[in-house]
Amino acid sequence: MNNVLVSLKELLNQCKKNKTAIPAFNVYNLETILSVNQAANNLNRPVIFSFGESYLDDLPLELIALNIRFLAERSQQPMVLHLDHAKNMSTITRAIDCGFTSVMYDGSHLRIEENIKNTRAVVEIAREAKVSVEGELGYMNPEDGSQNDEPSSAETSEFTRPELALKYVTETEVDALAIAIGNAHGLYRGEPHLEYSVLAEIAALTDIPLVLHGSSGIPAEQIKKAINLGICKINVNTELALGAVESIRRSIKISPEVNSLRYEKLIRQTKADLVLLIEEYLKLTSN
Ligand SMILES: [Zn+2]
Repeated sequence: MNNVLVSLKELLNQCKKNKTAIPAFNVYNLETILSVNQAANNLNRPVIFSFGESYLDDLPLELIALNIRFLAERSQQPMVLHLDHAKNMSTITRAIDCGFTSVMYDGSHLRIEENIKNTRAVVEIAREAKVSVEGELGYMNPEDGSQNDEPSSAETSEFTRPELALKYVTETEVDALAIAIGNAHGLYRGEPHLEYSVLAEIAALTDIPLVLHGSSGIPAEQIKKAINLGICKINVNTELALGAVESIRRSIKISPEVNSLRYEKLIRQTKADLVLLIEEYLKLTSN
């Protein structure tokens, strides 16, 4: 008991040694937070709660941090509170101030020199607060899954270049690196195809835990192979975002009458369905 939130670095360095990974689940409200917490406790697995800068209009970072800290203190499992895809320094400092234990600075849309400069500034601020930093290199489509009309390929995506990854990691000293190797945010239109040779090369050169965004929809065998080659964190967002809606659709279909389905019952069912989805990813990464 009396566990507190741990840093991403602490959790992922352990994974790197053991060739395992931890899933990071995007949460958007109290129900998704509770579902992630319950699944982690059901299976006795560490977990990463991930909250994106793009959800800031929906609810404040401080409220997310309060809720998750409350749960982490009562859990036996190590838990990380991570800020996902932050492009603004003001969001990063705000997250650090309210107790996030990990932040992602996303400068992947910038030229490498500018990405390195900004990431390094984030590392300096975060390190003082003992907060981990995840950086990103290589192009991925936006987090909401848009601009993903074609299956990713070497021609349509800008894969992370291993030699640039080495430069970026050395100069910024990030704790984890998100890479682009054919993964995409949102639904995959065709069979996902990960470039394992690029992954292996980056892993050999950088020697830090690597992160796979857009893991929803990648077949289990491919995820396992990626973990074996150096992926230590898999990001799961779409699977929960669409899974919750699917659950709501089912509930409404079963109880179409106005008075037959109350909101609290709907939420209860959605949470139960989300717990099952989350448990699948926790089992997949538990070796
Ligand atoms: Zn992402």
